[in-house]
Amino acid sequence: MKPTLIIDADDTLWENNIYYEQCIAAFAELMGAQGFVQEEAERTVETVERERIPQVGYAPEEFARSLVISYQRLCESHDRPIEDEVPDRVWEIGQAVIEYPIVLLDGVAETLARLSGHCRLLLLTKGDREVQESKLARSGLGHLFDGVHVVPEKDAEVIRSLLARYGLQPEQTWMVGNSPRSDINPALEAGIGAIYVPHPNTWKMEHEEIAEPERVIVLKGFGELAALFAGAERRQKV
Ligand SMILES: [Mg+2]
Repeated sequence: MKPTLIIDADDTLWENNIYYEQCIAAFAELMGAQGFVQEEAERTVETVERERIPQVGYAPEEFARSLVISYQRLCESHDRPIEDEVPDRVWEIGQAVIEYPIVLLDGVAETLARLSGHCRLLLLTKGDREVQESKLARSGLGHLFDGVHVVPEKDAEVIRSLLARYGLQPEQTWMVGNSPRSDINPALEAGIGAIYVPHPNTWKMEHEEIAEPERVIVLKGFGELAALFAGAERRQKV
């Protein structure tokens, strides 16, 4: 039986969080120009996001809306009026995450192409379906996957349902991703292999202590998957 890799998309295959970080920096700068403290502006965005994501999910428009709400909240907490043109300028800043350019991470295209001959490849990404599918289409990688699954959140239950749906054996299945919270810990809980490819700009909300680090394979880059799964010495290494 071929091994199966369940692969994350954002910040595993292509850059994602840097665009959000750039928006938050631009927002903080605008807030600074409005007389607010930039660090407080950044913290406010984080608070608003933590409150809203469980209700509204990860759609990029909702991120832009969170920025506008953050501005309103800063005004409220400092007892200042909401300036007429500022919410529009904030909304404009947030638009940069809606159709950002797809920049593949190092080694991704060639490694996926090599792996596709040796493994079943499934894409598992969380977020807004249309947005995630558009990113995959723009990445040019879609044809390499045997299945694409967009879910609101990733947890062990989602992984178990993929095991059942494709008839996968846990010992022949690995999750590959950059997020301890959404990729690695759910994989460990579901009893499959976990391959952690850290990204330096991983979103704060994806950080979490890894439950059983001794079970996790940590790679320096996506390209190292080729040696693990598409090389002659695959069995010794995994
Ligand atoms: Mg990710």
